[in-house]
Amino acid sequence: MITNDALTGEALFKHVQVLADDIGPRPAGHPQEEQARHYVRGQLERIGITDVETIPFDTIDTWGYGLISSVGVGLIGNLIGNRIIGGGLALLGLREHFATLTAQDNLLNPLFPKRKGGTVIAKIAPKGDVKHKIVLIGHVDSNKHRKSFVPQGKKLLLPASTAMTAGLSINLWALLTGKQSLRRVAGGLLGFALWRLIQDERDDYIDGANDNASAVACVLGLGEYFAQHPLAHTEIWLAFTGSEEVGLKGLHALLDRYEDDLRDAWWIDFEMVGAGDIGYVTRHSSLNYLTAYHPHEEMVAIAQKVAEKHPEWGIKGTPMTILEETLPLRQKGMRAMCVVGIGEDGWLVNWHQHDDHSDNIRPESLQKAAHFVLAMCQEIDNM
Ligand SMILES: [Zn+2]
Repeated sequence: MITNDALTGEALFKHVQVLADDIGPRPAGHPQEEQARHYVRGQLERIGITDVETIPFDTIDTWGYGLISSVGVGLIGNLIGNRIIGGGLALLGLREHFATLTAQDNLLNPLFPKRKGGTVIAKIAPKGDVKHKIVLIGHVDSNKHRKSFVPQGKKLLLPASTAMTAGLSINLWALLTGKQSLRRVAGGLLGFALWRLIQDERDDYIDGANDNASAVACVLGLGEYFAQHPLAHTEIWLAFTGSEEVGLKGLHALLDRYEDDLRDAWWIDFEMVGAGDIGYVTRHSSLNYLTAYHPHEEMVAIAQKVAEKHPEWGIKGTPMTILEETLPLRQKGMRAMCVVGIGEDGWLVNWHQHDDHSDNIRPESLQKAAHFVLAMCQEIDNM
């Protein structure tokens, strides 16, 4: 293993402590998220990276706006009951539900209260001419503690979300056909879903040491490494995205500005690499049975090759229950994949739970993730 100071577990863990302990919870668009960006920019300056910019955008501060409004609109349609207005609202509810699940824009988005979000981008030039571009992604914001993600209940996440899809679909069908018994069933399902979604919003934001200060730490560490040891022909982009937890808004802002420049780039997203075994995701479940997605096969092949070269790291490819920033990239056919920490139960460790604080971070996981991605970058540079 390369012993570079910036990529030791201890050095990476220090970034996690600043973000998760000193700054603490970083809700999308709140001052603490901006403090985290301020820390990132300060570190980039210290490292000597000068090609840095912050892309601003408007953001909501919880995913609940999209989920609750979609069910709420469907339920209002159900109560109105007629085919034109009720059916129209039921259709809107179903449309908004899928938009939220796949991180697309909500039509109702203009109605939600907004805050100022941002994504910090930094670029590191190679020694020679640019043949490849690699974008390393880590999101800065943190989510809430979610009752739906508790260890005893998280296995119901996908069934419950898919039941919500069924409820909204039955609702639309009942209103269009005028079947009153079906309408009552849909109304009951949507009422229950609405109650559950509101309960899920009532807890505080979490420190997000694993989700996703661990990723920011790795991207900073790799930035420091590449600033000292530029690759031969690969330009490295560091993307510290905001508002990931509320619909991947920080990555969308990056794509809005740089999609053309980065069409042929290689994208590696870090998610929760501060605990558990390190691996790469071969199938992303998302949070619904109908919206799974896959990483790009060329990325998976490189990850597999690097893992085989370094059996001592014990890195494996695995399907995961996860929704992250690879999604909009794959929707556009881009070369993206995600590196994760895998818990003993096969799930992300302390996902959206109060236990996601720095005491539960393992520096050796951070170090392994950073070195794995470093080896992948070198592999790409040699192609
Ligand atoms: Zn995350």
